Amino acid sequence: MHKTISKKKPKLGQHFLRNAEILEKIVKVSEINSNDKVVEIGAGMGDLTEILLKNAKEVIAIEIDPVLYKILKERFYGKENLVLINENALKFPYEEIGQFKVVANIPYYITKPIIFKLLKLKNLISMTLTIQKEVAERLAAKPSTKAYSALSIIAQYYTQAEIKFYIPASFFNPPPEVESAVIKMDRRDKSPVEVIDEKLFFKIIKSAFGQRRKMISNSLKSIIDEPKEFLIKIGINPIKRPEELSIEDFAFISNELCKICKK
Ligand code: SAH
Repeated sequence: MHKTISKKKPKLGQHFLRNAEILEKIVKVSEINSNDKVVEIGAGMGDLTEILLKNAKEVIAIEIDPVLYKILKERFYGKENLVLINENALKFPYEEIGQFKVVANIPYYITKPIIFKLLKLKNLISMTLTIQKEVAERLAAKPSTKAYSALSIIAQYYTQAEIKFYIPASFFNPPPEVESAVIKMDRRDKSPVEVIDEKLFFKIIKSAFGQRRKMISNSLKSIIDEPKEFLIKIGINPIKRPEELSIEDFAFISNELCKICKK
């Protein structure tokens, strides 16, 4: 049955995960409990939903595909702690639902936009996501590693991210082209660095990693007038590459730059 659905709508990222042992493991690492409101993005045929319902107080399951939505409605008929929503998860008003956790096997084509959207929500407690291995590794990466990127810093500014385990492609039906990983991201109460101007901080990070092979003095040319002189003055070695700089370094650069701009 899933083969027909996925053939008709390959663009919806439909790769179903129906292995009970793995689904249980995902719910276990998500640490949800009977007080939690859980949002599932892309509920598919509801195998993960079913386990979430047993563990959480309430589940909001969002599924864009009307065919799957109908299957879910029939499967969970009469379940009082389930709210089923037939909508694009990128358009759902998350800020209006109070404190919640996300547990989801994310459709891969919306991985980044949905993570960016969720990261910024103050009412999010945590998210446990099954996503492409490469993206998970970038989200959790530490400085001076290949995977360390703008995404790592943005994610770690808002959350504490940890890869819990990997899932081979063959566990999905149909198998995706990439391996997957389950990552848990706990939203921080307070960011690990103090940043005066968040917009500038993110702009610097994006610009730095936009040209990650260049020295930091070169990759910041579009933002700072004389980047080399500025970096030397504030005590940052201008020949470093962006991946050699920590989140603290980027916060420092952005705050020092702010001081000048405000003068
Ligand atoms: N959770 C299920 C399905 C995962 S596949 C399982 O683990 O088996 C991803 C699911 O997300 C598919 O059912 C797909 O139809 C749905 N989906 C794709 N794009 C979506 C979107 N923008 N909003 C909500 N659901 C979406």
